[in-house]
Amino acid sequence: MKNGMLAAMLRTPGAITLENVERPDPGPGEILLKVEACALCGTDKRVLAGQKPVSVPIIGHEIAGTIAALGQGVRPGLAAGMRCAVQTVIGCGDCPMCLVHRENLCERGFTAIGYAYNGGFSEYILIPAAAVAQGCLIPLPNMMDAELGTLLEPLSCGINGLRDIPFAGMGHVGVVGAGVIGTLNGLIARARGAKRVSIFNRSQGKLDVLAGLRLPFDDLVNMAVTDPAAWIAGETGGRGLDCVILSASEKSLAGRCLPWLARGGHLSLFAGMPKDDCVEPIDLNLIHYRELHLHGANSSVRRDYEEAMEMLTSGRIDGKSLITDRFPLKEFAAAVRKQNDPASGALKVVILP
Ligand SMILES: [Zn+2]
Ligand SMILES: [Zn+2]
Repeated sequence: MKNGMLAAMLRTPGAITLENVERPDPGPGEILLKVEACALCGTDKRVLAGQKPVSVPIIGHEIAGTIAALGQGVRPGLAAGMRCAVQTVIGCGDCPMCLVHRENLCERGFTAIGYAYNGGFSEYILIPAAAVAQGCLIPLPNMMDAELGTLLEPLSCGINGLRDIPFAGMGHVGVVGAGVIGTLNGLIARARGAKRVSIFNRSQGKLDVLAGLRLPFDDLVNMAVTDPAAWIAGETGGRGLDCVILSASEKSLAGRCLPWLARGGHLSLFAGMPKDDCVEPIDLNLIHYRELHLHGANSSVRRDYEEAMEMLTSGRIDGKSLITDRFPLKEFAAAVRKQNDPASGALKVVILP
Protein backbone atom coordinates (compact mmCIF):
# COMPACT_ATOMS: atom_id res chain seq x y z
CA MET A 1 0.00 0.00 0.00
CA LYS A 2 1.45 3.35 -1.08
CA ASN A 3 0.19 5.44 1.82
CA GLY A 4 -0.21 2.68 4.33
CA MET A 5 0.08 2.71 8.10
CA LEU A 6 0.25 0.07 10.79
CA ALA A 7 -2.75 0.06 13.13
CA ALA A 8 -4.03 -2.15 15.95
CA MET A 9 -7.52 -2.99 14.70
CA LEU A 10 -10.33 -4.13 16.99
CA ARG A 11 -12.42 -6.23 14.63
CA THR A 12 -14.26 -8.24 17.28
CA PRO A 13 -14.23 -7.75 21.07
CA GLY A 14 -11.14 -9.20 22.61
CA ALA A 15 -9.32 -9.71 19.31
CA ILE A 16 -6.87 -7.07 18.12
CA THR A 17 -5.16 -7.63 14.79
CA LEU A 18 -2.24 -5.63 13.46
CA GLU A 19 -3.05 -4.49 9.95
CA ASN A 20 -1.59 -2.27 7.31
CA VAL A 21 -4.44 0.08 6.49
CA GLU A 22 -4.80 3.18 4.36
CA ARG A 23 -3.36 6.34 5.85
CA PRO A 24 -6.11 9.00 5.90
CA ASP A 25 -5.70 12.31 4.08
CA PRO A 26 -6.77 15.37 6.06
CA GLY A 27 -9.86 17.04 4.58
CA PRO A 28 -10.93 20.65 5.24
CA GLY A 29 -10.22 21.63 8.84
CA GLU A 30 -8.70 18.25 9.70
CA ILE A 31 -5.17 17.42 10.83
CA LEU A 32 -3.11 14.26 10.39
CA LEU A 33 -1.01 13.56 13.44
CA LYS A 34 1.89 11.12 13.46
CA VAL A 35 1.43 9.24 16.73
CA GLU A 36 4.64 9.30 18.79
CA ALA A 37 3.14 7.68 21.89
CA CYS A 38 -0.24 6.40 23.06
CA ALA A 39 -0.75 4.93 26.53
CA LEU A 40 -2.98 2.02 27.53
CA CYS A 41 -5.67 2.88 30.04
CA GLY A 42 -8.17 0.98 32.18
CA THR A 43 -10.99 1.99 29.84
CA ASP A 44 -9.15 0.39 26.91
CA LYS A 45 -9.04 -2.81 28.92
CA ARG A 46 -12.84 -2.76 29.23
CA VAL A 47 -13.21 -2.02 25.52
CA LEU A 48 -10.84 -4.84 24.57
CA ALA A 49 -12.79 -7.22 26.80
CA GLY A 50 -16.03 -6.26 25.06
CA GLN A 51 -17.47 -4.62 28.21
CA LYS A 52 -17.64 -1.15 26.70
CA PRO A 53 -18.76 -0.64 23.09
CA VAL A 54 -17.00 1.80 20.77
CA SER A 55 -17.93 2.81 17.25
CA VAL A 56 -14.47 2.68 15.64
CA PRO A 57 -11.90 -0.08 15.09
CA ILE A 58 -8.87 1.88 16.39
CA ILE A 59 -8.93 2.83 20.07
CA GLY A 60 -6.41 4.67 22.27
CA HIS A 61 -7.05 8.15 23.72
CA GLU A 62 -3.91 9.08 25.69
CA ILE A 63 -2.08 10.47 22.70
CA ALA A 64 0.96 12.60 21.88
CA GLY A 65 2.21 13.14 18.35
CA THR A 66 3.59 15.43 15.68
CA ILE A 67 1.50 17.28 13.09
CA ALA A 68 2.22 15.57 9.75
CA ALA A 69 -0.27 17.30 7.43
CA LEU A 70 -2.99 19.93 7.62
CA GLY A 71 -6.24 20.15 5.69
CA GLN A 72 -7.45 23.41 4.17
CA GLY A 73 -8.65 26.15 6.47
CA VAL A 74 -7.14 24.88 9.71
CA ARG A 75 -7.20 27.56 12.40
CA PRO A 76 -3.99 29.59 12.71
CA GLY A 77 -1.32 28.60 15.20
CA LEU A 78 -0.94 24.97 14.11
CA ALA A 79 1.77 23.90 11.67
CA ALA A 80 3.48 20.78 10.38
CA GLY A 81 6.19 19.55 12.75
CA MET A 82 4.48 20.83 15.92
CA ARG A 83 4.32 18.32 18.77
CA CYS A 84 0.93 18.08 20.48
CA ALA A 85 -1.14 16.21 23.00
CA VAL A 86 -4.79 15.59 22.15
CA GLN A 87 -7.84 16.59 24.17
CA THR A 88 -10.07 13.53 23.93
CA VAL A 89 -13.44 15.19 24.40
CA ILE A 90 -15.28 17.01 21.59
CA GLY A 91 -18.40 18.98 22.47
CA CYS A 92 -21.17 20.29 20.21
CA GLY A 93 -19.58 23.73 20.38
CA ASP A 94 -22.67 25.82 21.04
CA CYS A 95 -24.57 24.63 24.14
CA PRO A 96 -24.18 26.69 27.35
CA MET A 97 -21.44 24.37 28.71
CA CYS A 98 -19.47 24.28 25.45
CA LEU A 99 -19.66 28.06 25.19
CA VAL A 100 -17.70 28.28 28.45
CA HIS A 101 -15.27 25.56 27.24
CA ARG A 102 -16.57 22.81 29.48
CA GLU A 103 -17.09 20.41 26.59
CA ASN A 104 -16.88 17.50 29.05
CA LEU A 105 -20.33 18.57 30.26
CA CYS A 106 -21.73 19.22 26.76
CA GLU A 107 -25.51 19.25 27.08
CA ARG A 108 -25.86 17.31 23.85
CA GLY A 109 -23.35 14.71 25.08
CA PHE A 110 -19.73 14.85 24.01
CA THR A 111 -18.04 12.53 21.54
CA ALA A 112 -14.48 11.35 22.07
CA ILE A 113 -11.36 10.42 20.16
CA GLY A 114 -10.62 6.73 20.56
CA TYR A 115 -14.34 5.95 21.01
CA ALA A 116 -16.35 7.78 18.30
CA TYR A 117 -13.30 8.64 16.17
CA ASN A 118 -10.30 6.44 15.48
CA GLY A 119 -7.71 6.65 18.26
CA GLY A 120 -3.99 6.47 18.74
CA PHE A 121 -2.95 2.80 18.57
CA SER A 122 -1.84 3.45 15.02
CA GLU A 123 1.03 5.15 13.24
CA TYR A 124 -1.18 8.09 12.27
CA ILE A 125 -4.44 9.55 13.53
CA LEU A 126 -6.84 11.92 11.80
CA ILE A 127 -7.98 14.69 14.14
CA PRO A 128 -11.55 15.68 13.16
CA ALA A 129 -12.30 19.27 12.11
CA ALA A 130 -14.56 19.87 15.13
CA ALA A 131 -11.73 18.85 17.46
CA VAL A 132 -9.17 21.02 15.68
CA ALA A 133 -11.56 24.00 15.75
CA GLN A 134 -12.19 23.46 19.46
CA GLY A 135 -8.52 23.57 20.36
CA CYS A 136 -8.10 19.87 21.08
CA LEU A 137 -4.48 19.91 19.87
CA ILE A 138 -2.38 21.16 22.76
CA PRO A 139 1.24 22.03 21.94
CA LEU A 140 3.88 20.25 24.02
CA PRO A 141 6.87 22.16 25.39
CA ASN A 142 10.29 20.97 24.17
CA MET A 143 11.19 19.57 27.57
CA MET A 144 8.20 17.18 27.51
CA ASP A 145 8.76 14.04 25.47
CA ALA A 146 5.90 12.15 23.85
CA GLU A 147 5.60 9.39 26.44
CA LEU A 148 5.30 11.96 29.22
CA GLY A 149 2.77 13.79 27.02
CA THR A 150 0.47 10.76 27.16
CA LEU A 151 0.05 11.37 30.91
CA LEU A 152 -1.65 14.70 30.27
CA GLU A 153 -4.99 13.03 29.47
CA PRO A 154 -5.38 10.90 32.63
CA LEU A 155 -3.83 13.60 34.82
CA SER A 156 -6.18 16.22 33.38
CA CYS A 157 -9.16 14.02 34.28
CA GLY A 158 -7.98 14.02 37.90
CA ILE A 159 -7.45 17.76 37.86
CA ASN A 160 -10.97 18.29 36.56
CA GLY A 161 -12.66 15.89 38.99
CA LEU A 162 -10.80 17.17 42.05
CA ARG A 163 -10.94 20.86 41.09
CA ASP A 164 -13.36 21.93 43.82
CA ILE A 165 -11.71 20.06 46.70
CA PRO A 166 -9.65 22.41 48.93
CA PHE A 167 -6.48 20.30 49.36
CA ALA A 168 -4.22 23.17 50.45
CA GLY A 169 -3.37 22.49 54.07
CA MET A 170 -5.79 19.57 54.24
CA GLY A 171 -4.88 17.07 56.93
CA HIS A 172 -5.50 13.56 55.67
CA VAL A 173 -6.70 12.28 52.29
CA GLY A 174 -7.58 8.67 51.48
CA VAL A 175 -7.58 7.25 47.96
CA VAL A 176 -9.39 3.97 47.34
CA GLY A 177 -7.83 2.22 44.35
CA ALA A 178 -4.13 1.82 43.55
CA GLY A 179 -4.33 1.77 39.75
CA VAL A 180 -3.04 4.59 37.58
CA ILE A 181 -6.08 6.78 38.26
CA GLY A 182 -5.92 6.33 42.03
CA THR A 183 -2.19 7.00 41.91
CA LEU A 184 -2.59 10.18 39.87
CA ASN A 185 -5.39 11.39 42.15
CA GLY A 186 -3.20 10.82 45.19
CA LEU A 187 -0.35 12.72 43.55
CA ILE A 188 -2.66 15.64 42.71
CA ALA A 189 -3.87 15.81 46.33
CA ARG A 190 -0.24 15.80 47.48
CA ALA A 191 0.85 18.39 44.89
CA ARG A 192 -2.01 20.66 45.91
CA GLY A 193 -0.96 20.58 49.56
CA ALA A 194 -2.58 17.64 51.36
CA LYS A 195 -0.39 16.82 54.37
CA ARG A 196 -0.97 13.07 54.48
CA VAL A 197 -2.11 10.83 51.62
CA SER A 198 -3.04 7.18 52.19
CA ILE A 199 -3.77 4.67 49.42
CA PHE A 200 -6.19 1.80 50.06
CA ASN A 201 -6.40 -1.33 47.93
CA ARG A 202 -7.28 -4.99 48.27
CA SER A 203 -4.41 -6.23 46.11
CA GLN A 204 -1.03 -6.29 47.82
CA GLY A 205 0.60 -6.60 44.39
CA LYS A 206 -0.67 -3.20 43.31
CA LEU A 207 0.44 -1.60 46.58
CA ASP A 208 3.86 -3.20 46.13
CA VAL A 209 4.16 -1.58 42.69
CA LEU A 210 3.58 1.85 44.25
CA ALA A 211 6.06 1.09 47.03
CA GLY A 212 8.64 0.00 44.45
CA LEU A 213 8.22 3.23 42.49
CA ARG A 214 8.85 5.22 45.70
CA LEU A 215 5.84 7.46 45.14
CA PRO A 216 5.25 10.15 47.77
CA PHE A 217 2.43 8.47 49.68
CA ASP A 218 2.41 8.15 53.45
CA ASP A 219 0.55 4.88 53.80
CA LEU A 220 -0.27 1.91 51.58
CA VAL A 221 -3.11 0.07 53.30
CA ASN A 222 -4.16 -3.42 52.26
CA MET A 223 -7.94 -3.44 52.81
CA ALA A 224 -8.03 -7.24 52.60
CA VAL A 225 -5.86 -7.45 55.71
CA THR A 226 -6.57 -4.24 57.61
CA ASP A 227 -10.09 -2.98 58.32
CA PRO A 228 -9.97 0.55 56.86
CA ALA A 229 -12.64 1.99 59.18
CA ALA A 230 -10.73 0.89 62.28
CA TRP A 231 -7.39 1.98 60.80
CA ILE A 232 -8.75 5.44 59.95
CA ALA A 233 -10.32 5.85 63.39
CA GLY A 234 -7.00 4.95 64.99
CA GLU A 235 -4.86 7.16 62.76
CA THR A 236 -7.10 10.23 62.98
CA GLY A 237 -8.01 10.07 66.66
CA GLY A 238 -11.58 9.25 65.68
CA ARG A 239 -11.97 12.38 63.50
CA GLY A 240 -12.02 10.66 60.13
CA LEU A 241 -10.51 11.61 56.78
CA ASP A 242 -10.87 15.08 55.29
CA CYS A 243 -11.33 13.64 51.83
CA VAL A 244 -11.84 10.24 50.22
CA ILE A 245 -11.29 9.81 46.48
CA LEU A 246 -13.06 6.68 45.25
CA SER A 247 -10.99 5.50 42.28
CA ALA A 248 -12.33 1.96 41.97
CA SER A 249 -15.46 0.94 40.08
CA GLU A 250 -17.22 -0.87 42.90
CA LYS A 251 -20.46 0.76 44.00
CA SER A 252 -20.60 -0.71 47.52
CA LEU A 253 -17.43 1.22 48.33
CA ALA A 254 -19.35 4.51 48.12
CA GLY A 255 -21.56 3.65 51.07
CA ARG A 256 -18.62 2.12 52.87
CA CYS A 257 -16.39 5.20 52.47
CA LEU A 258 -18.95 7.76 53.65
CA PRO A 259 -18.59 7.00 57.40
CA TRP A 260 -14.80 7.33 57.06
CA LEU A 261 -15.17 11.07 56.51
CA ALA A 262 -14.63 13.78 59.09
CA ARG A 263 -17.09 16.62 59.55
CA GLY A 264 -17.09 18.92 56.54
CA GLY A 265 -15.28 16.21 54.53
CA HIS A 266 -15.24 15.62 50.78
CA LEU A 267 -16.10 12.47 48.85
CA SER A 268 -15.01 12.28 45.22
CA LEU A 269 -16.98 9.69 43.27
CA PHE A 270 -14.18 9.60 40.74
CA ALA A 271 -14.77 6.16 39.30
CA GLY A 272 -17.75 5.55 37.06
CA MET A 273 -19.87 2.52 37.95
CA PRO A 274 -21.23 -0.12 35.56
CA LYS A 275 -24.20 1.48 33.80
CA ASP A 276 -26.57 -1.39 34.64
CA ASP A 277 -25.45 -1.57 38.27
CA CYS A 278 -25.05 1.93 39.68
CA VAL A 279 -27.68 2.26 42.41
CA GLU A 280 -26.45 2.07 46.00
CA PRO A 281 -28.20 2.92 49.30
CA ILE A 282 -26.23 5.45 51.34
CA ASP A 283 -26.84 7.07 54.72
CA LEU A 284 -28.11 10.53 53.76
CA ASN A 285 -27.92 11.72 57.36
CA LEU A 286 -24.15 11.34 57.28
CA ILE A 287 -24.09 13.87 54.45
CA HIS A 288 -26.63 16.07 56.21
CA TYR A 289 -25.28 16.22 59.76
CA ARG A 290 -21.59 16.10 58.90
CA GLU A 291 -22.06 18.61 56.08
CA LEU A 292 -20.20 16.41 53.63
CA HIS A 293 -19.46 17.44 50.04
CA LEU A 294 -19.88 15.16 47.02
CA HIS A 295 -17.87 15.58 43.80
CA GLY A 296 -18.41 14.01 40.38
CA ALA A 297 -15.81 13.59 37.65
CA ASN A 298 -16.29 13.32 33.91
CA SER A 299 -13.25 13.55 31.63
CA SER A 300 -11.53 16.90 31.16
CA VAL A 301 -11.03 19.95 28.97
CA ARG A 302 -8.19 22.11 27.80
CA ARG A 303 -7.71 24.14 31.01
CA ASP A 304 -7.19 20.83 32.85
CA TYR A 305 -4.55 19.72 30.31
CA GLU A 306 -2.78 23.04 30.77
CA GLU A 307 -2.72 22.60 34.55
CA ALA A 308 -1.53 19.02 34.09
CA MET A 309 1.27 20.32 31.86
CA GLU A 310 2.31 22.76 34.58
CA MET A 311 2.33 20.02 37.24
CA LEU A 312 4.52 17.75 35.08
CA THR A 313 6.95 20.38 33.77
CA SER A 314 7.43 22.01 37.19
CA GLY A 315 8.21 18.59 38.68
CA ARG A 316 5.40 18.88 41.25
CA ILE A 317 4.39 15.50 39.84
CA ASP A 318 7.16 13.17 38.66
CA GLY A 319 5.35 11.68 35.68
CA LYS A 320 8.34 9.70 34.42
CA SER A 321 8.33 7.54 37.53
CA LEU A 322 4.84 6.27 36.63
CA ILE A 323 5.73 4.96 33.16
CA THR A 324 6.96 1.45 33.77
CA ASP A 325 6.77 -0.18 30.33
CA ARG A 326 7.17 0.75 26.65
CA PHE A 327 6.25 -1.38 23.65
CA PRO A 328 6.35 -0.84 19.88
CA LEU A 329 2.96 -0.99 18.16
CA LYS A 330 3.75 -4.36 16.63
CA GLU A 331 3.94 -5.80 20.15
CA PHE A 332 0.52 -4.44 21.11
CA ALA A 333 -0.74 -7.81 22.35
CA ALA A 334 2.24 -8.19 24.68
CA ALA A 335 1.65 -4.67 26.02
CA VAL A 336 -1.97 -5.50 26.83
CA ARG A 337 -0.92 -8.72 28.55
CA LYS A 338 1.58 -6.82 30.67
CA GLN A 339 -0.96 -4.16 31.63
CA ASN A 340 -3.59 -6.77 32.55
CA ASP A 341 -1.33 -8.95 34.66
CA PRO A 342 -1.53 -7.72 38.27
CA ALA A 343 1.72 -9.53 39.07
CA SER A 344 3.70 -7.87 36.23
CA GLY A 345 4.67 -4.80 38.24
CA ALA A 346 3.35 -2.53 35.46
CA LEU A 347 1.73 0.80 36.25
CA LYS A 348 1.59 2.85 33.03
CA VAL A 349 2.23 1.03 29.76
CA VAL A 350 2.95 3.16 26.70
CA ILE A 351 2.89 2.19 23.02
CA LEU A 352 5.55 3.92 20.92
CA PRO A 353 4.46 3.30 17.29
ZN1 LIG B 1 -7.82 6.88 29.74
ZN1 LIG C 1 -22.21 21.26 23.83
